[in-house]
Formats: sequence, C-alpha cells, structure tokens
Amino acid sequence: MTTKKGTKVLTEILNIQGIKVIQMSQQPGIGIILQVESIERESHCHHCGTKSNRLHQNHRYVVKDLSWGEKPVFLEINRRQFKCKKCGKPFSEKLDFVNNRRTYTKRLADTIIKSVLSSDIHSVAKQGVVTTEEIERMLSDASRELSSKPSGLKKLGIDEIALIKGQGNYCAVLIDLSTSKLITIVAGRTQAEIEPVLNSWGSEVLEQIEEVSIDLWTGYKTLVQKLMPNAQVVADRFHVMVQVNQELDTQRKREKRQVIDLIKKSKSSKKAAEYKEILEGINDSKYSLLKNEENLNEKQNIKLMEVKKMFPNLAKMHKLKEKFRQIFENKKTNWLRGLLRIGIWHQRAKQYFPDSVKTITNWHKGDNFLL
Ligand SMILES: [Zn+2]
Repeated sequence: MTTKKGTKVLTEILNIQGIKVIQMSQQPGIGIILQVESIERESHCHHCGTKSNRLHQNHRYVVKDLSWGEKPVFLEINRRQFKCKKCGKPFSEKLDFVNNRRTYTKRLADTIIKSVLSSDIHSVAKQGVVTTEEIERMLSDASRELSSKPSGLKKLGIDEIALIKGQGNYCAVLIDLSTSKLITIVAGRTQAEIEPVLNSWGSEVLEQIEEVSIDLWTGYKTLVQKLMPNAQVVADRFHVMVQVNQELDTQRKREKRQVIDLIKKSKSSKKAAEYKEILEGINDSKYSLLKNEENLNEKQNIKLMEVKKMFPNLAKMHKLKEKFRQIFENKKTNWLRGLLRIGIWHQRAKQYFPDSVKTITNWHKGDNFLL
C-alpha cells in the first residue's frame, strides 16, 4: 500500500505531465510497477470534438518506461474509454506520453534511439530493457514522425544502423552535425531509398549543404554529388584512404631527403657510398609502397621488400596502410566488427598517421548524437 504522501512523491519522480501515480509495487525479478492515471477527468471525443466525462469502460495495460537506477519501471495505465454525450459514440482518451498500441512510453523510445545511434541495436537489446523488435518499431515510428524539412542545414551526416544481424537489413540515419540533431531515419540504406527523402527537402535546402560526412561502409558519395552541388564529402572511407596514402608518401619523401642530406654531409667517400646504397633502396619506391600490395608486379615487389628492410618506419606505415584497406575491402566485415577493427587500427596508427587518425576521430565524435 502506498500512502497519499508517497504517491505524491512518486508522481514527482515519475515526472510525466498530466499523470499521477496511484500505487507502487515491486515485483522481484521484474521491477517497479507504478499504477498511473490521467489527472484529467474528461476527454475530447475523436468524432465530434465534444468534451465528455461519461466513463464507458476502463482499459488497463502495461508499458515500459525509463528505468530507475538498475530497476526497470513499468507503468500500469488505464486508458479510459468515454461515451460521447453529444454523438453517443465511444472513444478512448488520448495520452500524450504513450502512442497507441505501443508497449513503451515515448520518452523511453527517445532514449533507446539515442543509445542505438551511439552503439547498435543488439547491444542495446542486450541490456534487457527492450527487445530488438521493439527497437525496430521505435525506429520505424521515428522515421515517420521526424520527416519534416531541416532548416539551416550546413553539415549533414549520413549514418546507418543494422537492424537484424547478418541479414543485411539496415536503415539510414540523417543527422544535422552542427546541432547533433537527428533529422530523420530512412527505412533502408540504398540510394534509391534515401534519394526521395533528400529530394523532399527541396533544392533550397540541398544547395545550402556545405559538408557531408558519410558512414565508412557505404557509397553515398554519388548521391551527394548528384543532389547537393555545393557540398563537399569530408569523411568517407575513400577520403581517409587518400589521406593515409598521402601521409605514407610524405614520410617516404622525408626519409629520402634525410638520406640525401647524409650523403652531402659525409666526410669520407666510403660513408658517402654507404648512404648512396641506402638511397638506391628508397629510389623509385613510391608505387611499390602506395599501390595495393596484391597488384604489384615482380619488380615492384622486390622494391617493396628492399625499402621495407632499410626503412623500418616505412615498413610499419606500409603495413598499417594495407591493414586499413583490408578493413574496408573485406566484404564479411559488418558494421560493428569494422568499427572495432578501426578502433584497433586507430591505436596502432596514431604516431604514424596523425592526420588520418584525426579525421577518423572527428568523424566518430559524430556518433554521440543527441536527439
Ligand atoms: Zn462525439
């Protein structure tokens, strides 16, 4: 039994507008169950708009809400059915905090979507609050509700969420990166599915976009080029790959210059001859280092081995460059595993590829989207 004072405190803690707590109970292994009801004694008829307080029947059911600490919270709601005084038809009252036929409150859905955007559906479902089916329902509801036109959009982020593991089922998430606000969720990730959504914003909005950041695994670049003439793709995997190659090439030039300097400064002709031999090793090594390793011809392969043997720094960078490429080229890599592998690469590459690592870091900052 909950006291009157107790229910008042509980109502304040619950903090849902227009709702009061009637009673609280705790079920071992389940959580806290709060019996709640609307403060309003009447409701507007859906059919004719007349206010009515003539109770037709009670309709009780349970929905999930935000947890209290470690404890799951369930709300036992009474969605009352009234009978209209004027037109005589029965109607259910409208409750603002929960959508019809949903097993969770709106604010729980908002919180869950936020965590899905920063991790993935399965990790969130594993926490046990909601099931993967419920999360998918939340996302599809959100995609319908959020379909308004963005205003003042300059930096667009296109990300994606895997729905069902291993089944290639995805939805795309469009985010305003300047405000970290979710713009919309598209039920699919193909260009054909995303294009109409972008088009619905109109050319005025699209032409305003200056930067687009794209998820690592997808090829939305042509779509961006087609629809957003003034936008630059600032981060996609191709962009980072180019940067990785540039940094490797810069290091090659730097090492070569150092050897040339050593030759110039050599005091004996014997020392100079030694350095010239090292220079021979790095000369003409550009394509051996930059080309995909499996595409090297025999001569380039020999060159690669030579330069790697003499220049340990370049050997490490070459290995990291190939590794980076493999992460994206491996078709079996799913989004999560890819992200983990990028994380590992990131750690190892820090000192060798500072610019590329910075790009990746900036990119993933966008993962903490706030709704
Ligand atoms: Zn009516």
